[in-house]
Amino acid sequence: MIVLVDEATAKSAAAEKELLESLGRLPGIEVRVHRVKGAEKTVTEVYLIGDTHRLALEDVATLPGVERVVRVSEEYRIIGRHKDDRRASGFTYNGVEFSQETLNVFAGLCAVDTPENAEALFAELAAFRQVCTRMGAYKPRTNPYSFQGHGKACLPWVFEKAGKHGIRVIAMEVTHESHVDEIAESLEATGRPTGVMLQIGTRNIQNFELLKAVGRQPVFPVLVKRGFGITLNESLNAAEYLASEGKSQIVFGLRGVKTNLGDPHRNLVDFAHVPVVKRLTRLPVCIDPSHSVGSRDRAPDGIPDLMHVTAQGVLAGANMVLVDFHPQPGKALVDGPQALLLGELGWFLEDVAVARAAYEKRRALAQAHAAQPAAKTSA
Ligand code: PEP
Ligand code: MN
Repeated sequence: MIVLVDEATAKSAAAEKELLESLGRLPGIEVRVHRVKGAEKTVTEVYLIGDTHRLALEDVATLPGVERVVRVSEEYRIIGRHKDDRRASGFTYNGVEFSQETLNVFAGLCAVDTPENAEALFAELAAFRQVCTRMGAYKPRTNPYSFQGHGKACLPWVFEKAGKHGIRVIAMEVTHESHVDEIAESLEATGRPTGVMLQIGTRNIQNFELLKAVGRQPVFPVLVKRGFGITLNESLNAAEYLASEGKSQIVFGLRGVKTNLGDPHRNLVDFAHVPVVKRLTRLPVCIDPSHSVGSRDRAPDGIPDLMHVTAQGVLAGANMVLVDFHPQPGKALVDGPQALLLGELGWFLEDVAVARAAYEKRRALAQAHAAQPAAKTSA
């Protein structure tokens, strides 16, 4: 059960304490307070965990300081979209809004290699007024002898260069909780020139201790990527782990699933799940066409498969696109074959805009259809 605290009570420490004490006296109930930072205000939510089915909604709703009570289903208690649940989705981080309504493109390096390549990439992003990017410093590699990423050594110059070119959010994978501290320390030491969205990769999605640690830190939003060999439900539970530790700024990422049935793509593209995740949860949904497709191959119409699947995801309402670009893909230390060329960034962004405009038209069409008299719309 989720209790939404009214604004006046949330602003008064004494009134809030009184409400929490009343809730704490409910038998068999554990109380957890979450502050959800929205674009305009911070909302205080109290999660009642335990024997809540024995509680009457009205008894809790009439306690002083309670604005509303939501009874949640067993599945995805915090991230889920429940009956009569009108809680807003999304968050704003470093001036960039993320929700189930917005669309942000994160074009960038799979792995940071040289300062020259990072600089070239940032400059190109700035030329197209992009404020988000991806930059891998800690790389989870299948082969222990492959390049593992520059780690914390590259963070100061990556952050400084990003800030110089107006980048506000960098998606950066962490594979150990110590990486979060390294990122925080480096941002601090460089005067916070930019922001970071922590990424939990497909291989770590069931690393529960990492999920808990990343969920507990209050500073950075988190992009959690679907596990490539587990069910959607299991992956969404990973996002719930983050939320259960207090994290409210979460994006869920689709990146394809591992099966030979997807050949010759690197993974079987799963962007048909964009609307499914939006229906089951209130999380913004990211698509990663690069790790799904795995190559720059083009269809006979001249459009790379990678752009085709991006358009499919955006047309289905995706809210974020994570995509690999590289100034010299032949020299990239990780995933060169799937990186688009810097000269293709403008084309890519225009193609995304075409798909987004089509999605907005489709959404308007659905709304117009829903507004028609019931007799005409009922099946
Ligand atoms: C990545 O985005 O760099 C990455 C390794 O992705 P995934 O975890 O989806 O394989
Ligand atoms: Mn990669």
